[in-house]
This record gives sequence, structure tokens and C-alpha cells, in this order.
Amino acid sequence: MPELPEVETARSLIADQALHRRIVDVDDSDSYVVRPHPPGELRNALAGRSLIAAHRRGKTIWLETSGTGDPATPGGPELGIHLGMSGRIVVTGPDGSVAEGGDPPYRYSARPARAVWNRFTLTFADGGSLVLRDPRRLGRVRLNPDIGVLGPDAAQVTPAEFRALITRGTIAVKARLLDQSKIAGIGNLLADEILWQAKVSPLARVSTLSSAQVNRLYRALKSVLESASAEGGAHTGAIIAARHPGGTCPRDGAPMVHGVVGGRSTWWCSREQALRAGQR
Ligand SMILES: [Zn+2]
Repeated sequence: MPELPEVETARSLIADQALHRRIVDVDDSDSYVVRPHPPGELRNALAGRSLIAAHRRGKTIWLETSGTGDPATPGGPELGIHLGMSGRIVVTGPDGSVAEGGDPPYRYSARPARAVWNRFTLTFADGGSLVLRDPRRLGRVRLNPDIGVLGPDAAQVTPAEFRALITRGTIAVKARLLDQSKIAGIGNLLADEILWQAKVSPLARVSTLSSAQVNRLYRALKSVLESASAEGGAHTGAIIAARHPGGTCPRDGAPMVHGVVGGRSTWWCSREQALRAGQR
């Protein structure tokens, strides 16, 4: 699943290669991916405009569009894109060159890309295109997405914001890390990696976290995001190889434990991430 680092590769690809190209056609015929818009509504809203800026908060991308007259001036709606569980952005240049960003390609690389995976397409006047390619069809495209429902971006959140957002209430800390309305951008793999780096049990109630634990979580968040971004995504984390029955902690060799926390499959070190008394 694309988490913050993967979504950022898609955003930066769009910023580098898809801006200031006039949109002449829009294939928005997949009524599920464009819901609640009826097919044709995005085409009517976007044809004749250009993308002029690419933003991201958490796992949501939104693109500013120009007016239909001067392609350099704003005036169009914002185009929101969410990559869902398996979405990639494919940008084709005027010369036919193809570049991709988003969900790591390895998961589907055994099979050639199929045209049916192309869920939404902008065709540019220069002959190139921007495509949302999404095998599992859980991505989403919509006009004027409500970014205000998202918490601060995980890569931007300050220590004070993090402390306030992470410790309120009594939910398990893993579930809180996954709550996009509190901190945006952390998915299942990043959450497990952050908790392991910080040596905090995923089951610990947020109200019971010590100051030292919150500080370790914040430092782990920053370092995990940095290394995942540098190395190509959340799947490059240190405990990925240990996420299986019989897996052992890469730090101390203790058995890894599995459970479902916050509705997601979770792995943690039985020794270093043991639940402390009073934290359940
Ligand atoms: Zn360990």
C-alpha cells in the first residue's frame, strides 16, 4: 500500500513532468473511482485547463488547475488523487517516454500492466498523458477534495503537535498512528517500523505513554520516513523481513509476535516491545 514516501514519488513526478500541459481529453468513465462524480463531470471540469501545481498531505495528492484561457493563471478546480492500496501514476511525455511513481512496482511486476488497470486518464495536447494505474481499483479521483479532514503531514508535524495529537484519549498507539485525521501519511508498515524503532508496544494505550516514549516515537517517525524515502518506500524497513511466523527481531533476536491492532496485521518484538504494566 502506498504510504507517505510512495505517494510523494507520485506527487513529485507530476510536479516534474505533468504541469503546464494543456488537457484536451479526460477519461473519467470509471464511475467507482470518480465517485461521487458522475462520469463526464471531471471531463467537463478539466478539459481546456492545465495542471499548475502539485501538493500532498499524507496520502492525498491535490493538483491546482489553470483557467481555460491563460494556462499560467489559476482559476480551475482542484483535482484530488488518492492512490488507494495499489495505485501508480504514469506520466507519458510528448516524446512517448514513460515515467511512473506511487505504489512500488515489484508487487505487480510479474504481470505486464493491463489496460483495464488504467482507471483515470488525462490526455494532453502534446500527445502525452497522465494515468492512474490501479490493479485493485481502490484509488480515487475527485474534484476539490477536503484536505481539512486530514491531520498535519507526518513529514511536517512538529514535536509539540505530535505530542498533543498522539497522546489524547485511550486508543492503542498503533491505531492512533494509522488515524489520518490525527497525523496523515502513516500506513501499516511504517507504523510497525516506527513502533519497533521506538521500542513501544503497538497495544499501549496512548494515555499511558511516558514522555520518553513519546519522544522516541517522534524521533522514530522522522528517521523512518527519511530512510523509507531514501531507499524507495515503506517496504524497505528493517523489520519487513521479520514479519512472518517464526520471524525474529533483527535487533535482539527475540521472537516476533503477531496480532491485529487497529484492524491491521501487526508484528512486534516480544521482548523490547512488551506491554508495560498499566499500559493495556
Ligand atoms: Zn527486539
